[in-house]
Amino acid sequence: MKILVINCGSSSIKYSLFDMEEETTLAEGVIEKIGEEYSTFSQKTAEGKVKKRLVVRDHKEGLQLILNSLKDNGGVIKDLSEISAVGHRVVHGGNDFVESTIIDEDVIRSIEKYAALAPLHNPPNLIGIKVSKDLLPDTPQVAVFDTAFHQTIPETAYIYAIPYELYEKHGIRRYGFHGTSHRYVSRKAAEILGRKVSELRIITCHLGNGCSITAIKQGRSIDTSMGFTPLEGLPMGTRSGDIDPSIIFFIAEQENLSLKGIEEILNKKSGLLGVSGVSNDMREIKKEADAGNRRARLALEIFAYRVKKYIGAYAAVLGGLDVLVFTGGIGENAYYIRSKICQGLEFLGIRLDEDRNKDPAKWQGVISTEDSRVKVLVIPTREDLIIARETLETIKSKAS
Ligand code: ADP
Repeated sequence: MKILVINCGSSSIKYSLFDMEEETTLAEGVIEKIGEEYSTFSQKTAEGKVKKRLVVRDHKEGLQLILNSLKDNGGVIKDLSEISAVGHRVVHGGNDFVESTIIDEDVIRSIEKYAALAPLHNPPNLIGIKVSKDLLPDTPQVAVFDTAFHQTIPETAYIYAIPYELYEKHGIRRYGFHGTSHRYVSRKAAEILGRKVSELRIITCHLGNGCSITAIKQGRSIDTSMGFTPLEGLPMGTRSGDIDPSIIFFIAEQENLSLKGIEEILNKKSGLLGVSGVSNDMREIKKEADAGNRRARLALEIFAYRVKKYIGAYAAVLGGLDVLVFTGGIGENAYYIRSKICQGLEFLGIRLDEDRNKDPAKWQGVISTEDSRVKVLVIPTREDLIIARETLETIKSKAS
């Protein structure tokens, strides 16, 4: 059975085609700069890589290009009917979805409703769904939500201490994101350790361009650092994470900036980039820090400190800790960050093996010492594969 996974952004479409028998990736690629003067298209298959520069006016043309490239010139499929289902990454499912779902008109209306809460993400996700329904009208389409895994968070953790009416009127609450990733790595960690996820207290750190951390008890998310939007919580590549909300009013006055301007600062000019003044890319910052750049070093320190602080908070929320997981581009690769985060957490039962930490793959991802009470793991996240799995499960459960 073949599943196509689509992740549609405002000017891009990322995709992967999986053969679910062995969970092999038949093709993966991306179209970027859709609607601009020139777009780029790249695709990787077992045959090799293709990269092209061409004009793609809109998402429909983009998806048509993707479908053609999958089947033309001895492509990975002969006919589009071989695609059993399409799985769409949808960022915001609000309160309506606790799991993935087959997309029908009601589901589309709900995703539209939550576009106000995720204006950068839900509208392009919806375009992807509509275009895909047009081009593959007989193929089931499934929505997999970033927010769904966090729907188990209790009220105490999701209600902000602002007037309750604002929650009732506008749905202002913690939703949480990166849910597919947190869910996947927590289950994978349990599998690697030969334990049941239901008997473990787990903290998962997804540290990529976007960063979030989740407390998982009995396999369920009970708190997470991203909130009403993906801006809350840890500092990220260009996002500030938690700040005193009064800073917004202060900047508005002192810098004579509009709310839009401040939103731009907090989303695009803060985080690792804002502190270091160097880059939002951890590799660049590390290079500069090693060369003696004080602000780059400070950015690294702040990043690790803030992750550590959340680990402490979530260990308290969970009433103890059994497993700590790192994933995402930084979490999977930056051993020096993992090391800094874990330094000083011995009191929680965390003991990192520095040799293992430098080469996790050799140790099935387990980087804690043999006698460490808390097991620390590095697990590469596979968001596209998880979406494919969820899509398959969803169409199977509908059929049964
Ligand atoms: P996204 O959230 O966009 O999916 P990723 O999960 O790919 O992003 O993470 C991007 C981050 O991972 C960047 O800060 C990048 O510097 C960092 N990263 C990627 N590879 C490495 C590496 N080998 N060493 C350190 N950091 C890395």
